[in-house]
Amino acid sequence: MQVISREYIEAIASNINAYGGQTLAAIASVLIAEILRDCYHIAGHYWKPLQPWHNLHHKAYRADLSKVSMEIYRQAELFNDVPEAIFMVSASAAIAGIGYGYGLWAMAFGCIYALGFLIMALARSQGWLLATDITHKEGALVQLPSQWTVNRTYHWRHHFDRGEAYFCSTFTLVDQILGTALSLKGKNIAITGASGSMGRALIAQLSKRGAKMIALTSSPNAVFNLGDTEGSTKKKEIEVICWQMGKESELRDRLQKVDILILNHGVNVRAARDSQSIYQSYEVNTFSVARWMDLFLETVTESKHIATKEIWVNTSEAEVNPALSPLYEMSKRAIGDLVTLRRLDAPCTIRKLILGPFKSELNPYGIMSASFVAWAIAFLAQRGFRNIIVTINPLTFILYPIKEFMRSLYFRIFSRRQN
Ligand SMILES: [Zn+2]
Ligand SMILES: [Zn+2]
Repeated sequence: MQVISREYIEAIASNINAYGGQTLAAIASVLIAEILRDCYHIAGHYWKPLQPWHNLHHKAYRADLSKVSMEIYRQAELFNDVPEAIFMVSASAAIAGIGYGYGLWAMAFGCIYALGFLIMALARSQGWLLATDITHKEGALVQLPSQWTVNRTYHWRHHFDRGEAYFCSTFTLVDQILGTALSLKGKNIAITGASGSMGRALIAQLSKRGAKMIALTSSPNAVFNLGDTEGSTKKKEIEVICWQMGKESELRDRLQKVDILILNHGVNVRAARDSQSIYQSYEVNTFSVARWMDLFLETVTESKHIATKEIWVNTSEAEVNPALSPLYEMSKRAIGDLVTLRRLDAPCTIRKLILGPFKSELNPYGIMSASFVAWAIAFLAQRGFRNIIVTINPLTFILYPIKEFMRSLYFRIFSRRQN
């Protein structure tokens, strides 16, 4: 009987190691090729010599991504896509050369991958290949903008929402790093609970980033002065609208032209547990928020709304952690679950804001300042996060994603979309 020698096992192990290393090198080389493409694209927007050529790409499509004319499309391929692919191939080749020096021959994979795009761009520029790539397919938008990879709706925003954002072509990594995975510039953003500390801090922070803010408040005497927006020199306009609990639908028409609705109002009855406090907590923190959501989702009626409309719901860290206020926790958890349920087939993006304790009238002992939390919300939203966690409690970062995943899975299995 033959005995398997130790040398034999070691040889197999080192082979597996080597192939594992080469596989990783091949994956990394593709990622690098994509990053190179995104860098070339950004240069096309900001570096003068490339601008006229990249403009051709933007001129080639109508809002439904149909081609303006075959002539412009072929020119765009020849003067934008072909040089872009040549840049990808040559820079990937240089990087593969360095990798080869370290024994990572599989880095050449990125170069071959880029070569594929060069061949296709050349074929399109000559009219030999008529089909566009998947992100430029003609027709109405169907899917929500994706988070980690670029789908058609994601890229549509680069063409028709804001050209200074959404630069990525395949993976969203570069946009996430640059904070260009969501553009707030020029967006009409309405926020409830506007007169509270978080409402005011978000109004200041988002208008600093170019959004046009609409304050929705239930306190008729609230005064908003954006002149005191930190760091802003010119006075900005802010529209103030009063609303009443239970009469959300009166604002249906105004919501049509709102891009992002932030649901931030809430009540904290603290230690109370009488019947009235129960109804009040659920009415304000759960049902009113759910009604606003329904109302806003009804305004998603056009193809472009799928790409540009969003709801952000401040469900708070109470979703997974004690808030030392039972009714606050219960009503916040209920709306948190409702958002998770509605997200399964919502016609537009819904983000959750999972916030830890910040200083406010509701919570004078909060540790973080409202303006820091607002800054962090905007920072993470622009990086494409769907669940925006801002807290000093490390447990939330572990517990919340597990809870969200498990609830979402449970809802997926035991609930059905109505046809
Ligand atoms: Zn494009
Ligand atoms: Zn562009």
